[in-house]
Amino acid sequence: HAKKAGGNVFAYYSPEMNEAAVERLMTKSKLKRAFERDELLVHYQPKYNLATGEVIGAEALVRWELPERGIILPSDFIPIAEETNLIVEIGEWVLDRVCEDFRYWQRSVPSPGRVSVNLSLKQLRQANFINRISAIMRGYGVSPTSLELEITETTLMENPARTIKLLDELYALGLHLAIDDFGTGYSSLSALQQFPISTLKIDKSFVRDIAVNPDDATIVGTIVHMGRSLKMDVVAEGVETEEQLAFLQTLDCNYVQGLLFGDPMSSDNYLELLLAQADGTDKYRALFA
Ligand code: C2E
Ligand code: MG
Ligand code: MG
Ligand code: MG
Repeated sequence: HAKKAGGNVFAYYSPEMNEAAVERLMTKSKLKRAFERDELLVHYQPKYNLATGEVIGAEALVRWELPERGIILPSDFIPIAEETNLIVEIGEWVLDRVCEDFRYWQRSVPSPGRVSVNLSLKQLRQANFINRISAIMRGYGVSPTSLELEITETTLMENPARTIKLLDELYALGLHLAIDDFGTGYSSLSALQQFPISTLKIDKSFVRDIAVNPDDATIVGTIVHMGRSLKMDVVAEGVETEEQLAFLQTLDCNYVQGLLFGDPMSSDNYLELLLAQADGTDKYRALFA
């Protein structure tokens, strides 16, 4: 058990305390240190227009680079960061990186597309959240219309009444808003319609088997139809094969992202991709023909 006294927390661990808990505690402090030492980085996964193969933006994905272990993916540390306020600091840092990168790309290409940033519930609930993100965007001269905030369906539905006011304010700033991992939560359609959402991202678990499983094909088709009917853009995530791409092309889906087009990349490589596209030498365009 842990005992709280005078603002300090004294924890007593029994020998039976499970290893997983100890590992978590260690990871938490390592993560905090890594963050303070600037060992996190942001990679970008391009999003493509399904009809033309044109790169229309990217999603920012945070990584943790450990000298001994290589790159650790967010599923292994975001949940740990979510347990503390660290997720708020990391999230804000990611937005800062994205705005700085965006300003850099903007010097070389007319339009770097729209970049989406994942948002945690804790960040959204931060009292001065809107002022803080406005200050970051303003500091780098990045227009809010160049950014999209991704909020998972589960986060959105946690307290719809409270969230809708926040989202309305973000939308009023000019930010685009996307529902992430759509299909894995429990949205009521009436609630969905009340949010100022411009983009629906279909969770990759539904996309995985679309080319072989008729049920998944139906689910994805239904989500695309619903999203388009509600005047939203629809993104399919987790596209790994040409068969999945071909199936999605039979639907009215707007955008795709996934490993079929390579791993998420550094800021420099994303700029190279934009430049290659401007030259007509981008290598994935042919996949869309
Ligand atoms: P997400 O927002 O749904 O991001 C998509 C995830 O799917 C990314 O995993 C991406 O690398 C992965 N992915 C993309 N294409 C494919 C594919 O074709 N096949 C498969 N199997 N996977 C694919 P990643 O980078 O490991 O991120 C996992 C999750 O961590 C993200 O899911 C997001 O919820 C969260 N996350 C990432 N960056 C941030 C961040 O800056 N802040 C917050 N709060 N969460 C983040
Ligand atoms: Mg996302
Ligand atoms: Mg997702
Ligand atoms: Mg996800």
